[in-house]
Amino acid sequence: MTILTKIFGDASTKFVKSAQGVVTAVNALEEQISALSDEELKAKTAEFRQRLGVGHLSAEALAKVETLDDILPEAFAVVREASKRLLGQRHFDVQLIGGLALHQGKIAEMRTGEGKTLVATLPVYLNALTGKGAHVVTVNDYLARRDAVWMGQIYAFLGLSVGVLNNQTSYLYDQAHTTPEEDKARDVEGSFKIAYEFLRPCSRAEAYAADILYGTNNEYGFDYLRDNIAQRPTDQVQRLDPTARPASTSASLGGHHFAIVDEVDSILIDESRTPLIISAPYAESEKLYGTFAQIARNLIKDTDYTVDEKFKSISLTDDGITKAEKMLGVENIYTDKGIKYVHHLETAVRAKALFELDRDYVIREGEIVIVDEFTGRLQPGRRWSEGLHQAIEAKEGVKVQEESRTFATITLQNYFRLYQKLAGMTGTAQTSAEEFIKVYGLEVISIPTNKPSQRQDLGDYIFQTEKGKVAAVVKRVKELNQKGQPVLIGTASIEKNELLSAYFKREGIEHKVLNAKNHEEEGSVIAGAGRKGSVVIATNMAGRGVDIKLGGPTPTPAEQDEVRNLGGLFVLGTERHEARRIDDQLRGRSGRQGDLGTTQFYVSLEDDLMRVFGSDRIKGMMGRFGIPEDEPIQNSFVSKALEGAQAKIEGFNFDMRKHLLDYDDVTSHQRQTIYERRNKVLLGGKEEVDEFLAKAEEVLPIPEEDKNKLMADVAKKRAELGEEKFVAQARQTILQVIDMFWVEHLEAIDYLRGSVRLRAYGQRDPLVEFKKEGLTLFKEMELSIFGNVLELLGKIEGELKTEELKVKEVHQQAELILNSNTNSSSAGAEPAKAHENKVGRNDLCPCGSGKKYKKCCGQ
Ligand code: ADP
Ligand code: MG
Repeated sequence: MTILTKIFGDASTKFVKSAQGVVTAVNALEEQISALSDEELKAKTAEFRQRLGVGHLSAEALAKVETLDDILPEAFAVVREASKRLLGQRHFDVQLIGGLALHQGKIAEMRTGEGKTLVATLPVYLNALTGKGAHVVTVNDYLARRDAVWMGQIYAFLGLSVGVLNNQTSYLYDQAHTTPEEDKARDVEGSFKIAYEFLRPCSRAEAYAADILYGTNNEYGFDYLRDNIAQRPTDQVQRLDPTARPASTSASLGGHHFAIVDEVDSILIDESRTPLIISAPYAESEKLYGTFAQIARNLIKDTDYTVDEKFKSISLTDDGITKAEKMLGVENIYTDKGIKYVHHLETAVRAKALFELDRDYVIREGEIVIVDEFTGRLQPGRRWSEGLHQAIEAKEGVKVQEESRTFATITLQNYFRLYQKLAGMTGTAQTSAEEFIKVYGLEVISIPTNKPSQRQDLGDYIFQTEKGKVAAVVKRVKELNQKGQPVLIGTASIEKNELLSAYFKREGIEHKVLNAKNHEEEGSVIAGAGRKGSVVIATNMAGRGVDIKLGGPTPTPAEQDEVRNLGGLFVLGTERHEARRIDDQLRGRSGRQGDLGTTQFYVSLEDDLMRVFGSDRIKGMMGRFGIPEDEPIQNSFVSKALEGAQAKIEGFNFDMRKHLLDYDDVTSHQRQTIYERRNKVLLGGKEEVDEFLAKAEEVLPIPEEDKNKLMADVAKKRAELGEEKFVAQARQTILQVIDMFWVEHLEAIDYLRGSVRLRAYGQRDPLVEFKKEGLTLFKEMELSIFGNVLELLGKIEGELKTEELKVKEVHQQAELILNSNTNSSSAGAEPAKAHENKVGRNDLCPCGSGKKYKKCCGQ
């Protein structure tokens, strides 16, 4: 077997070997399946469903029920046949192996261009046969549409429905268009005008009810969060747990059944640091940010605070703290002002010392917009958490946005852990295999390429200075461009894009710059990056998932040959990334499917990676060579050292993410408990309400006498209102009270997380403390919920007006979010009312001077 001649990790080799049985079985069925008429092939879906026992069955049929594994070879053969007929593409044997790995809930590592989109059709079809839904997760909206419309042809032919989740809109793949002319029009890969005419807008719940769903991680995650602040069953959109028996709801059953995450490393590793948050503005005014930004401005690096670039952290010196206290006019910030002020101070200094304009963020229309550190892509709507975003706003003197209140939050990791079966695919997973297995229990299987790779990865060129490096890059690109070989230049940031672009302009090199604003445009530019004479500058991962064909997006054979003769696509990396994975992604853009291609990195000793992590030995060595700054050396020792540095940072970042996750696990468990209880009441009736009340009565730690009185009040109200009205009221009240206390709990947990960190100095393990106190907080919250529900139920329309109002306020805000449909990371609703900050005469002046208001602007 030629495909086994390559050496992969042990587990991968073993898997690939064991998959041969399946490959043989699928291939053996080919003759028989390809002899079927279209109608007979289509009928296979119903037959499979029957054999799997989906739907109502007679006892006799039930006894013969087969499993997914039983029908796998046949189902794969059917999908392959449909693909042959509709797309003219026959799944390669290695693609069958990839499909098997996905079906088994593993990560299939398949190189870029190997056709992972098509691979996914195999396990997606198979698992969707259960009727519980199969989700495919893409990195952007555009790819969700592309893949749904592209692969939808296969699914629709086989009688399965396909949905698409986009931001603000959902679609169903429209099966009506199936004439051959229209099929041609779907040359989606080439045209990049994703055929909206094949997509029909639909409701969110309808999309989820589809057998197969394509969407981005954010859409899935936010829908989950919104479902769990829904006030009515009909507001829920995701599939419900199969055991749920909702009275009236728009959602279908199946729960979180099966998901395949495309570009899984990007989503589960790179994107995992910012949680999804649904929030709404918080009424409490915030003027402290300006004050602390002003204080930070006056603090001096290395005197008042120190910066650890490696750990991306700062710490204040005693001098710095004394200075801050003076400016604030307090004796001791820790005792006088407590955790809140300390937190503000540290955040302001972090904003100043570690976050740089046009590198980490840009200012757009008076707002701070995050720049994704991996893709260089702008992230409008996303906000850094724990006040960091506001601190940066204050630092830059733009309007500090109102603090918002978190209503619901989840990390992507924890969202994806909800799935019964999770699988992933990407070109680059092996260097993070340990993280995948430890954190997600996902095994990485390297699948051999269909054709042997012809890509040439040249050794790094190392320069002493950045300036020398840039000059050499420009020179090289000019040479390549003059002979017509297409070049893709990968950079680490938007800033570097602009810099290179300016140089190219000066040299008269025609080029395109991808600043990652629009996925669709980006897609079409990247797709054209293989055209003769093309020069594209892009941040490292811009256009991930887009196919680069030699000769152009829809090349003629002559165009293809011409570029092939020039050596294929040249990928020139201008900086090594912190993670080897990201470098590999960049390289992977060249040499797809056995094409020719070359990759090379140009690095300098002034690059961040070298500056921060490179050893002094390397620097010393370079100095000794005494070569001009724009002349490179190729030195395997330096290259090894670089890779060593990368491995070190990868390990460090892994630990950091693991650490975050350890904390998040505490909240995650609590969230699940609360959401389960909430959902029961939301979807239930009298029985669930009674259950809840009984539990409340049981656990409330108040004197028997008081408890009896409470219960008597509730019983009285119940009799007064009548059963039906009471149950409706009770359900509403329980939901609102749960939501109100959960929101407060999230806030308390946030503060706790910050405060335990400080305790690390006291030689106590902060995580242990966090778990312990987090649990205490949770138990207190539960009791508050039970107590408040009983009290409110006994007094419906009675006293306790203020409490009721508070509940209503939360309820209304949550409604706002539900209807607003904004889907950025911080899906905040519009503030209901703009309100002025009221400043007390003795408060610090909001202008940030650090003086009292009455002595400053208030004079
Ligand atoms: P990946 O996601 O692995 O980078 P894509 O799914 O974007 O790759 O596919 C890359 C290209 O390979 C596409 O143009 C696709 O049409 C083509 N392709 C995939 N599988 C096959 C196949 N079995 N036969 C022919 N072409 C294929
Ligand atoms: Mg892909």
